Amino acid sequence: MPVHVSLHDVSPAFEPEVERMLELCHARGSRPALLVVPDYHGRAPLGDAPAFVDRLRALAASGHEILLHGFFHRAEASDPSGAATRFFRQRVVSAGEAEFASLPAEEAARRLDDGARVLAECGLSPSGFVPPAWSMGPGVLELLGERGYRYTEDHLFVYDPASRRRRPSVVLNFASRSPGRLFSTVAYCRVAKYARVALPARVALHPGDMRFKLLVDEARDLVGWASGDLAPTGAALL
Ligand SMILES: [Zn+2]
Repeated sequence: MPVHVSLHDVSPAFEPEVERMLELCHARGSRPALLVVPDYHGRAPLGDAPAFVDRLRALAASGHEILLHGFFHRAEASDPSGAATRFFRQRVVSAGEAEFASLPAEEAARRLDDGARVLAECGLSPSGFVPPAWSMGPGVLELLGERGYRYTEDHLFVYDPASRRRRPSVVLNFASRSPGRLFSTVAYCRVAKYARVALPARVALHPGDMRFKLLVDEARDLVGWASGDLAPTGAALL
C-alpha cells in the first residue's frame, strides 16, 4: 500500500528543523507534503517571513504538496464551554495544540478562510487541510467540503470532504514532547508499519523529532521504508 510522507508544523518558527527534515526526506527520494501553519502560536506570521515564504513557493513549484495546518495551532487556554472531554482532549491528548477540536462553527469557518487567504497572499495553494493534533470537532468536515477541499485526515482515517468519502489509514509519528511517550511511539511505529500490508499509511514528521538522535535515525528509516511506494499527494491514499 502507498505511504504519504508529510512535514508537520511548517512555520518560520521552525525554519532550521524544517530544513533538516527536508534534507532527510530528499536524501531518500521523498518530496513530503508541507503542512503550513499561517501564524504558529500567534507569534510566527508567514507574512513576516518573506525569505521562508519564497522557500515554500520554490518547494511547491518542485512538487511538494501544500496543506493548510490550522491557523494558530493552539487551542484557547480558557474554553468557555469546557466540558471534561474537551479538557481531556486539549490538555492531555494534544498538550493544547488541538485548535480545531472544539471551536464554534463560525470561528472554525473564519480560521479556515483566514488561513486560505494568508496562504493565497503568499502564493501558495493548499490542496487540503490537516487539523492540528489530528483533531476535528463536529462540523469541520462539512466546512471543508463546502470550501471544495478534497483532502483531510485524522488519527484513523483519510477523507475527501467534498465527496464525503473516507478510508482507514494508519499514521506513524513520534511523540517527542515527553520522554516516556517518545520510546513508546518508536516501538509503536516499528510494529505499526506492518499494517501497510492492509492499509495506506502516513508518515508524519514533526520539528521536535529533529532534537533527538534516536528520532532522526528512526525517521530516516521510516522514510527509507516508505520510498518504495510513495503517494504523491494525500488524496492519492483515497
Ligand atoms: Zn501540527
